[in-house]
Amino acid sequence: MRLIPAMLARYAKAGLYEDCQKYYIDYCSDCGACAYVCPAKIPLLRYIRIAKRELNKKVASE
Ligand code: SF4
Repeated sequence: MRLIPAMLARYAKAGLYEDCQKYYIDYCSDCGACAYVCPAKIPLLRYIRIAKRELNKKVASE
């Protein structure tokens, strides 16, 4: 598995939520460790949660 929080946040920030699945967003457990250790203090988990929410909305509307 190649879950890369920085890539998830990048795609989420760009609104490319579908692309987050390429980086295994479904395997993210919401632990927050990535945001905790990020030296740039990027709110990674916040972006990841936005992407998850948008992906869930899409699934619900199908
Ligand atoms: S919240 Fe936890 S599981 Fe999800 S990407 Fe960050 S470190 Fe990985």
